[in-house]
Amino acid sequence: TVRNNYTRNIAVYDDTLHKAELYNAKLVEDFQTAIDQKQFQLYYQPKFDVTGDTPRLCGAEALVRWNHPELGMISPGVFIPCFENNGLIQAMDHYVWHEAGRQIRAWKDALGFTVPVSVNMSRIDMYDPNIVYTVLEILETNRLEAADLHLEITESAYAEDEEQIIETVRRLRAMGFLIEMDDFGTGYSSLNMLSSLPFDVLKLDMRFAQNSASEGKDKYMLGVVTEIARHLGALVVTEGVETQQQLEVMKEAGCDIVQGYVFSPPVPAEKFETFLTDAKTHKDSINEERTREI
Ligand code: C2E
Ligand code: MG
Ligand code: MG
Ligand code: MG
Repeated sequence: TVRNNYTRNIAVYDDTLHKAELYNAKLVEDFQTAIDQKQFQLYYQPKFDVTGDTPRLCGAEALVRWNHPELGMISPGVFIPCFENNGLIQAMDHYVWHEAGRQIRAWKDALGFTVPVSVNMSRIDMYDPNIVYTVLEILETNRLEAADLHLEITESAYAEDEEQIIETVRRLRAMGFLIEMDDFGTGYSSLNMLSSLPFDVLKLDMRFAQNSASEGKDKYMLGVVTEIARHLGALVVTEGVETQQQLEVMKEAGCDIVQGYVFSPPVPAEKFETFLTDAKTHKDSINEERTREI
């Protein structure tokens, strides 16, 4: 009967909802243990400067994963929205930033060399009046400079409370941090926003890479956006570039930096170190050539 179908559907719906709630409740409950036991791990995805003949390593993005003892590896797409809704995101992000700072220092000590590491900031972090002191403390603790750490702020954060967030971003920029506007083009931005917001790097959402391969509206939009960025003096990073063909399209459109599976997925710190040593070897050989020429 209709009624039976109706109640059955409700029951199914309730059940999945209930499961999701239980799952989220478990994530919240396990949070502090996860921090204490270092279950959150940072992966690093290389960024390559593609403006020259050969791609050159120019940075990394730190991306958090939760290695949960019972639930396995959980992706940030799952737990970050949950933490944002439950007042835990700041604590987690502070942990991640500190960990990234510690890792940058470790690479500097071990290799005498590193590339800037970008960390992500949730829109909720941006309301914290102490955020500036939090990041300063990371620099101090690890004897780093602002240039070592880039800050990725999602486009949607800018759209929320322009006044307060713009002021915070200004202060961070004044301290020397490079600001990357993350996920650009996911629906919140307007041209007006672009010209009034402070940022140094425009980070195009992966739909630009994935939809622009053929001629058409998407490719046209990509060209317009890179052109605007250039006029504003911002660098353009494209994330989610997976194929050689997408890479060629991005280069042609004037994208400066590419991050994506075409080069590497996010990898654990030990593995990222091979990118750093390769880049260092390359740099050393160039310096050697120069010295010989002189
Ligand atoms: P995001 O900052 O836009 O990061 C890029 C996402 O794209 C990452 O997903 C990365 O693994 C993925 N990706 C990179 N290259 C490719 C590619 O070629 N193809 C495809 N299909 N995907 C690619 P991930 O690591 O799952 O992170 C998802 C989101 O979670 C991030 O998006 C960011 O918004 C958030 N996030 C990650 N770590 C943190 C963190 O420490 N703090 C905060 N607040 N958010 C974080
Ligand atoms: Mg990001
Ligand atoms: Mg992004
Ligand atoms: Mg994204």
